[in-house]
Amino acid sequence: MPKMLPLDEYLRQKAYDLGADQCGVADLTLARDAIRDQGGEMMAQFDRAISVGIAMPAAIVDQLPRHREKAVAIAYRTHSYEIISDRLDLLTSQLASLVQRRGYQAFPVRASQYLDGEKLTGLISHKLAAHLAGLGWIGKSCLLITPELGPRLRWATILTDAPLSTGRPMAERCGDCRACVDACPVHAFTGRPFRPEEPRELRYDAHKCRRYLHRNDAVPGAETSICGMCVYICPHGRGNSAEQAG
Ligand code: SF4
Ligand code: SF4
Repeated sequence: MPKMLPLDEYLRQKAYDLGADQCGVADLTLARDAIRDQGGEMMAQFDRAISVGIAMPAAIVDQLPRHREKAVAIAYRTHSYEIISDRLDLLTSQLASLVQRRGYQAFPVRASQYLDGEKLTGLISHKLAAHLAGLGWIGKSCLLITPELGPRLRWATILTDAPLSTGRPMAERCGDCRACVDACPVHAFTGRPFRPEEPRELRYDAHKCRRYLHRNDAVPGAETSICGMCVYICPHGRGNSAEQAG
């Protein structure tokens, strides 16, 4: 009879087989208060999170300096958000079923869903979970920056009580860089480095970004506009599209 893989290894292999480009396990006890503040007791009851990331198509991200052109806006919106959100939600649902079959709780959190319309935050910060899983650091853009692909991934999370071994949060590597701060057309970032104990509002005004994305005249003829300059401009991940981690 074949030897059964440890659950951690089994889930990681399954995640990659199902289309993940990054996968890790976070120790949520390191940020319990922040998780409770954002998502309430329902989120704070879990000790572990499986974080999964799917890379955005580099051929589209590389076009983002022309984000006011309709074709670029539609391609980025469709492929980087709608399709990858659906892929992430399917992936986390499938992984959650596998965890549950092994006898543990598993709560998949959708890739893109607001809980707080005022703060523009979800049930949990997928980027914080990926950071705690050791997959990257939170940059001055408030995006999760991975060494291989920079911010060019989207993320989703499965909360669980399974006793999985965890990664270690990665130290910040932005250094003196301010490329994302300077590239943002609406100055949404303050340039303050990430501190887990500080609210996101000290570093990022999500409403400035949202207003920019909802300007009717931003992309003539398109139903919705896009930007993504903070994704495009980061030196981490630029030119690395052929070296996706997995
Ligand atoms: S998407 Fe554009 S407007 Fe929004 S924060 Fe990034 S650079 Fe600024
Ligand atoms: S552009 Fe520079 S400052 Fe911004 S997240 Fe990337 S490395 Fe950090």
